Amino acid sequence: MIELSDRQVRILEIVKKSGPITGEKIAELLDVTRAALRPDLAVLTMSGYLEAKPRVGYMYRPEGAGNEIRRVLGQYRVKDVKSMPVVVRDDSSIYDAIVTLFTQDAGTIYVVDREGYLAGVVSRKDFLKTTLGNIDIHKVPVSVIMTRMPNIVTVTPEETMVDAVKKIVEHEIDSMPVVRRFIHENGEERLEVVGRITKTNIARLFLDLAYQKQRGD
Ligand code: ADP
Repeated sequence: MIELSDRQVRILEIVKKSGPITGEKIAELLDVTRAALRPDLAVLTMSGYLEAKPRVGYMYRPEGAGNEIRRVLGQYRVKDVKSMPVVVRDDSSIYDAIVTLFTQDAGTIYVVDREGYLAGVVSRKDFLKTTLGNIDIHKVPVSVIMTRMPNIVTVTPEETMVDAVKKIVEHEIDSMPVVRRFIHENGEERLEVVGRITKTNIARLFLDLAYQKQRGD
Protein backbone atom coordinates (compact mmCIF):
# COMPACT_ATOMS: atom_id res chain seq x y z
CA MET A 1 0.00 0.00 0.00
CA ILE A 2 1.32 3.45 -0.81
CA GLU A 3 2.00 6.08 1.82
CA LEU A 4 -0.18 9.14 1.27
CA SER A 5 0.96 12.73 1.72
CA ASP A 6 -0.96 15.10 4.01
CA ARG A 7 -2.52 16.76 0.99
CA GLN A 8 -3.59 13.43 -0.50
CA VAL A 9 -5.25 12.51 2.80
CA ARG A 10 -7.09 15.85 2.77
CA ILE A 11 -8.22 15.25 -0.82
CA LEU A 12 -9.58 11.86 0.19
CA GLU A 13 -11.51 13.43 3.08
CA ILE A 14 -13.02 16.04 0.75
CA VAL A 15 -14.07 13.47 -1.85
CA LYS A 16 -15.44 11.13 0.83
CA LYS A 17 -17.61 13.96 2.15
CA SER A 18 -18.57 15.79 -1.03
CA GLY A 19 -18.02 13.39 -3.95
CA PRO A 20 -18.67 13.21 -6.80
CA ILE A 21 -16.68 16.41 -7.01
CA THR A 22 -14.66 18.02 -9.81
CA GLY A 23 -10.90 18.63 -9.71
CA GLU A 24 -11.51 22.40 -9.90
CA LYS A 25 -13.75 22.30 -6.86
CA ILE A 26 -11.21 20.29 -4.83
CA ALA A 27 -8.48 22.77 -5.87
CA GLU A 28 -10.69 25.65 -4.73
CA LEU A 29 -11.35 24.05 -1.33
CA LEU A 30 -7.62 23.46 -0.81
CA ASP A 31 -6.72 26.89 -2.13
CA VAL A 32 -4.30 25.57 -4.76
CA THR A 33 -4.34 25.58 -8.56
CA ARG A 34 -5.88 22.72 -10.51
CA ALA A 35 -2.46 22.06 -12.11
CA ALA A 36 -0.78 21.72 -8.71
CA LEU A 37 -3.32 19.09 -7.77
CA ARG A 38 -2.89 16.96 -10.87
CA PRO A 39 -0.07 14.67 -9.55
CA ASP A 40 -1.97 14.00 -6.31
CA LEU A 41 -5.15 13.10 -8.15
CA ALA A 42 -3.17 10.85 -10.49
CA VAL A 43 -1.65 8.99 -7.53
CA LEU A 44 -5.04 8.58 -5.84
CA THR A 45 -6.79 7.26 -8.94
CA MET A 46 -3.94 4.98 -9.97
CA SER A 47 -3.72 3.46 -6.52
CA GLY A 48 -7.45 2.76 -6.46
CA TYR A 49 -8.60 5.20 -3.79
CA LEU A 50 -10.51 7.44 -6.21
CA GLU A 51 -12.46 6.83 -9.34
CA ALA A 52 -12.43 9.57 -11.99
CA LYS A 53 -15.68 9.75 -13.94
CA PRO A 54 -15.68 12.00 -17.01
CA ARG A 55 -18.06 14.95 -16.66
CA VAL A 56 -19.03 13.82 -13.14
CA GLY A 57 -15.88 14.19 -11.09
CA TYR A 58 -13.98 12.19 -8.50
CA MET A 59 -15.64 9.53 -6.38
CA TYR A 60 -14.30 7.68 -3.35
CA ARG A 61 -13.86 3.90 -3.64
CA PRO A 62 -14.40 2.21 -0.27
CA GLU A 63 -12.35 -0.85 -1.29
CA GLY A 64 -9.43 1.56 -1.72
CA ALA A 65 -5.98 0.30 -2.49
CA GLY A 66 -6.97 -3.34 -1.81
CA ASN A 67 -8.44 -3.33 -5.27
CA GLU A 68 -5.18 -2.06 -6.69
CA ILE A 69 -3.23 -4.93 -5.14
CA ARG A 70 -5.72 -7.38 -6.64
CA ARG A 71 -5.27 -5.69 -10.02
CA VAL A 72 -1.46 -5.90 -9.84
CA LEU A 73 -1.42 -9.51 -8.58
CA GLY A 74 -3.94 -10.39 -11.29
CA GLN A 75 -1.44 -9.31 -13.95
CA TYR A 76 0.96 -12.07 -12.89
CA ARG A 77 0.32 -15.61 -14.02
CA VAL A 78 1.47 -18.72 -12.18
CA LYS A 79 3.85 -19.49 -15.06
CA ASP A 80 5.67 -16.15 -14.43
CA VAL A 81 6.28 -16.89 -10.75
CA LYS A 82 6.58 -20.70 -10.40
CA SER A 83 9.80 -22.48 -9.50
CA MET A 84 11.13 -25.98 -10.17
CA PRO A 85 9.23 -28.81 -8.49
CA VAL A 86 10.99 -31.35 -6.30
CA VAL A 87 9.68 -34.77 -7.25
CA VAL A 88 10.15 -38.40 -6.11
CA ARG A 89 8.63 -41.66 -7.36
CA ASP A 90 5.87 -43.24 -5.27
CA ASP A 91 7.99 -46.35 -4.59
CA SER A 92 10.87 -44.31 -3.08
CA SER A 93 11.47 -45.02 0.60
CA ILE A 94 10.50 -42.40 3.18
CA TYR A 95 14.21 -42.20 4.02
CA ASP A 96 15.16 -41.33 0.41
CA ALA A 97 12.39 -38.75 0.24
CA ILE A 98 13.70 -37.08 3.43
CA VAL A 99 17.21 -37.00 1.94
CA THR A 100 15.73 -35.37 -1.18
CA LEU A 101 13.95 -32.81 1.01
CA PHE A 102 17.31 -31.77 2.49
CA THR A 103 19.47 -31.94 -0.63
CA GLN A 104 16.93 -30.03 -2.75
CA ASP A 105 16.14 -27.59 0.07
CA ALA A 106 12.37 -28.04 -0.26
CA GLY A 107 9.62 -28.03 2.36
CA THR A 108 7.22 -30.15 0.33
CA ILE A 109 7.88 -32.93 -2.15
CA TYR A 110 5.59 -34.04 -4.95
CA VAL A 111 5.16 -37.74 -5.57
CA VAL A 112 4.65 -39.15 -9.06
CA ASP A 113 3.53 -42.59 -10.27
CA ARG A 114 5.39 -44.91 -12.63
CA GLU A 115 4.13 -42.97 -15.64
CA GLY A 116 5.32 -39.69 -14.15
CA TYR A 117 1.90 -38.29 -13.26
CA LEU A 118 1.05 -36.63 -9.94
CA ALA A 119 0.15 -39.16 -7.24
CA GLY A 120 0.54 -37.18 -4.01
CA VAL A 121 2.24 -34.58 -1.83
CA VAL A 122 4.44 -35.04 1.27
CA SER A 123 5.17 -32.12 3.57
CA ARG A 124 7.49 -31.70 6.56
CA LYS A 125 4.68 -32.51 8.95
CA ASP A 126 3.91 -35.77 7.13
CA PHE A 127 7.55 -36.81 7.61
CA LEU A 128 7.50 -35.74 11.28
CA LYS A 129 4.41 -37.88 11.83
CA THR A 130 6.40 -41.00 10.91
CA THR A 131 8.63 -40.44 13.96
CA LEU A 132 5.60 -40.93 16.22
CA GLY A 133 4.84 -44.44 15.02
CA ASN A 134 6.84 -47.56 14.45
CA ILE A 135 7.57 -47.16 10.76
CA ASP A 136 10.77 -48.43 9.17
CA ILE A 137 11.54 -45.41 7.01
CA HIS A 138 14.07 -47.41 4.98
CA LYS A 139 11.44 -49.94 3.93
CA VAL A 140 8.10 -48.14 3.81
CA PRO A 141 7.44 -46.25 0.56
CA VAL A 142 6.60 -42.57 0.63
CA SER A 143 3.19 -43.31 -0.93
CA VAL A 144 2.04 -44.65 2.46
CA ILE A 145 2.34 -41.27 4.18
CA MET A 146 1.53 -38.86 1.33
CA THR A 147 -1.66 -36.88 0.88
CA ARG A 148 -2.98 -38.48 -2.29
CA MET A 149 -4.91 -37.67 -5.41
CA PRO A 150 -7.66 -36.58 -5.86
CA ASN A 151 -7.24 -34.52 -2.67
CA ILE A 152 -4.35 -32.44 -3.99
CA VAL A 153 -4.82 -28.71 -4.44
CA THR A 154 -3.19 -27.72 -7.75
CA VAL A 155 -2.88 -24.70 -10.06
CA THR A 156 -2.38 -24.42 -13.80
CA PRO A 157 0.26 -22.17 -15.44
CA GLU A 158 -2.41 -19.82 -16.83
CA GLU A 159 -4.14 -19.07 -13.50
CA THR A 160 -3.41 -15.66 -11.99
CA MET A 161 -1.46 -15.12 -8.78
CA VAL A 162 -4.70 -13.92 -7.16
CA ASP A 163 -6.11 -17.43 -7.73
CA ALA A 164 -2.88 -19.01 -6.42
CA VAL A 165 -2.68 -16.92 -3.24
CA LYS A 166 -6.36 -17.56 -2.54
CA LYS A 167 -5.90 -21.35 -2.81
CA ILE A 168 -2.82 -21.38 -0.55
CA VAL A 169 -4.62 -19.34 2.12
CA GLU A 170 -7.98 -21.12 1.91
CA HIS A 171 -6.48 -24.62 2.03
CA GLU A 172 -3.84 -23.69 4.65
CA ILE A 173 -0.96 -25.23 2.69
CA ASP A 174 2.61 -24.12 2.06
CA SER A 175 2.82 -25.08 -1.60
CA MET A 176 0.94 -26.37 -4.63
CA PRO A 177 2.06 -28.30 -7.69
CA VAL A 178 1.66 -26.44 -10.98
CA VAL A 179 0.11 -28.95 -13.37
CA ARG A 180 -0.97 -29.60 -16.93
CA ARG A 181 -4.04 -31.77 -17.37
CA PHE A 182 -4.19 -34.80 -19.65
CA ILE A 183 -6.93 -37.28 -20.41
CA HIS A 184 -5.44 -40.77 -20.11
CA GLU A 185 -6.37 -43.51 -22.63
CA ASN A 186 -8.72 -44.96 -20.02
CA GLY A 187 -10.62 -41.65 -19.99
CA GLU A 188 -9.36 -40.57 -16.56
CA GLU A 189 -7.67 -37.26 -15.89
CA ARG A 190 -3.92 -37.22 -15.24
CA LEU A 191 -1.80 -34.33 -14.01
CA GLU A 192 1.75 -33.63 -15.17
CA VAL A 193 3.82 -31.63 -12.65
CA VAL A 194 5.48 -28.65 -14.36
CA GLY A 195 6.37 -26.49 -11.36
CA ARG A 196 5.53 -25.40 -7.86
CA ILE A 197 4.10 -22.31 -6.21
CA THR A 198 5.19 -21.80 -2.62
CA LYS A 199 4.75 -19.14 0.05
CA THR A 200 8.37 -18.18 -0.73
CA ASN A 201 7.49 -17.50 -4.40
CA ILE A 202 4.67 -15.27 -3.22
CA ALA A 203 6.91 -13.40 -0.74
CA ARG A 204 9.50 -12.88 -3.49
CA LEU A 205 6.86 -11.53 -5.87
CA PHE A 206 5.84 -8.96 -3.24
CA LEU A 207 9.47 -7.93 -2.76
CA ASP A 208 9.91 -7.53 -6.53
CA LEU A 209 6.77 -5.40 -6.63
CA ALA A 210 7.99 -3.31 -3.69
CA TYR A 211 11.12 -2.44 -5.65
CA GLN A 212 9.19 -2.20 -8.93
CA LYS A 213 11.53 -4.81 -10.32
CA GLN A 214 10.47 -6.80 -13.34
CA ARG A 215 10.85 -10.55 -12.99
CA GLY A 216 13.89 -11.78 -14.89
CA ASP A 217 15.94 -8.61 -14.19
P1 ADP B 1 3.64 -28.42 6.86
O1 ADP B 1 3.96 -29.86 6.86
O2 ADP B 1 4.88 -27.59 6.96
O3 ADP B 1 2.53 -28.04 7.81
P2 ADP B 1 1.63 -27.90 4.80
O4 ADP B 1 0.85 -26.94 5.68
O5 ADP B 1 1.78 -27.54 3.37
O6 ADP B 1 3.10 -28.10 5.36
O7 ADP B 1 0.98 -29.35 4.88
C1 ADP B 1 -0.04 -29.70 5.76
C2 ADP B 1 -0.77 -30.93 5.24
O8 ADP B 1 -1.38 -30.64 3.99
C3 ADP B 1 0.15 -32.14 4.99
O9 ADP B 1 -0.51 -33.32 5.42
C4 ADP B 1 0.36 -32.16 3.48
O10 ADP B 1 0.50 -33.47 2.95
C5 ADP B 1 -0.92 -31.51 2.97
N1 ADP B 1 -0.67 -30.71 1.75
C6 ADP B 1 0.38 -29.92 1.47
N2 ADP B 1 0.27 -29.35 0.26
C7 ADP B 1 -0.90 -29.79 -0.25
C8 ADP B 1 -1.62 -29.56 -1.49
N3 ADP B 1 -1.15 -28.76 -2.44
N4 ADP B 1 -2.81 -30.18 -1.65
C9 ADP B 1 -3.31 -31.00 -0.70
N5 ADP B 1 -2.70 -31.25 0.48
C10 ADP B 1 -1.52 -30.66 0.71
